[in-house]
Amino acid sequence: MSNRIIDFQIPQSLVMGVGASKRLPDILKKTGVKKVLIVTDQGIVKASLVPLICEPIEAAGIGVAVFDGVEPDPRIEIVSACVSAFQAAGAEAIIGLGGGSSIDIAKVASIVAAQSGLAGDYIGIGKVPGPGFPHFALPTTAGTGSEVTPIAVLSDTTAHLKKGIVSEYLYPRAAIIDPELMVSVPPSVTAYTGMDTLTHAIEAYTNRFAAPFIDAFALETIRLTGRHLRRAVTCGIDIEARAGMARAATLGGMCLGSVNTAAVHAMAYPLGGTYNVPHGLANTVLLPAVMEFNMPSNLDKFAAIAEALGEETCGLSTREAALLAIQAVKDLSVDIGIPQGMRYLGIPQDAIPTMAEGAIEVTRLMGNNPRTITVKDVQKIYENAY
Ligand code: NAD
Repeated sequence: MSNRIIDFQIPQSLVMGVGASKRLPDILKKTGVKKVLIVTDQGIVKASLVPLICEPIEAAGIGVAVFDGVEPDPRIEIVSACVSAFQAAGAEAIIGLGGGSSIDIAKVASIVAAQSGLAGDYIGIGKVPGPGFPHFALPTTAGTGSEVTPIAVLSDTTAHLKKGIVSEYLYPRAAIIDPELMVSVPPSVTAYTGMDTLTHAIEAYTNRFAAPFIDAFALETIRLTGRHLRRAVTCGIDIEARAGMARAATLGGMCLGSVNTAAVHAMAYPLGGTYNVPHGLANTVLLPAVMEFNMPSNLDKFAAIAEALGEETCGLSTREAALLAIQAVKDLSVDIGIPQGMRYLGIPQDAIPTMAEGAIEVTRLMGNNPRTITVKDVQKIYENAY
């Protein structure tokens, strides 16, 4: 697959660094918009991040309205509420301020407000008919990389699954990545979202459709996560660690548009959709078991993951080094306090066959898995991760 042509896109503008969010008013002024809607959630409101962003925009003469009704792993219905707020405010642009949940709602609302149809009509790949209102992404977690992806993930409570919209029209006009907005993220959320980043990189790097250009982003993401995640979890105000994880998350997000994830993310969908397990946590409990299944597909790459995570592989056989990658991921997950198994997440063991049926249907991601995977394999992996 190394000769595959890849189509790599990112937002028109990427502004990154400590204090980067102070550039937002100038960026907005250049677009000529008179009023913006900030899309966020209650956690961000409680962390006092909203005035930090709103006040300088207002001082620049641009009106601001706030929609703070996003929920974690948001339901499709939240998009309609957000679009109503956008229309009621008479806004001309949308700013997603928050983790992947807020950014994804902002992305889809920008489309629905401009096009006819409902969010549900756009689920799948390439179903969005045209561009939306300008939207801007300010991530406050270092995790999903949504600020640089053409993807939005929404929960379908009827199907008990999470569903993805994939379209080039979902790229924000600008992604503004400011580690200062991340220092208030609680340790558990830092841990889950950081492991989400690591999962993006590992699934892209070992992907059936992996591409050398994207491998470079993936390996750097793995390296940065190995170096910074423990510190970001254990000392949230460590700005160097937060900045390292912010870079990791954005680079990890850059792996998603061209290559994307695989079985871990597909298998995480029922955990989120049915049992409300936060996205990053769902990925983390599944990651080592999926790596064990996939490892024989490419020992060299798994060995390189161990090295990127800072493990000493000198003198080991390639297989030993590859096994070390799985152990290193488990060690990281233990060190940052993540529950070690699905049994601790309120998931009944007898739900595994139904979850496996749901996960195998996520063909958009299962088709990317480096090792061909059947529903029986999925069941076995869930059992191993239980
Ligand atoms: P999130 O947005 O759901 O936020 C998790 C919690 O952290 C929330 O309660 C929030 O209020 C709180 N929080 C966030 N930032 C904070 C801060 N700075 N201070 C204090 N609290 C803060 O979590 P997430 O993991 O970033 O996003 C998960 C969603 O993103 C899921 O729906 C997932 O499926 C989706 N996702 C999207 C993409 C994509 O490319 N669009 C990729 C991966 C995942």
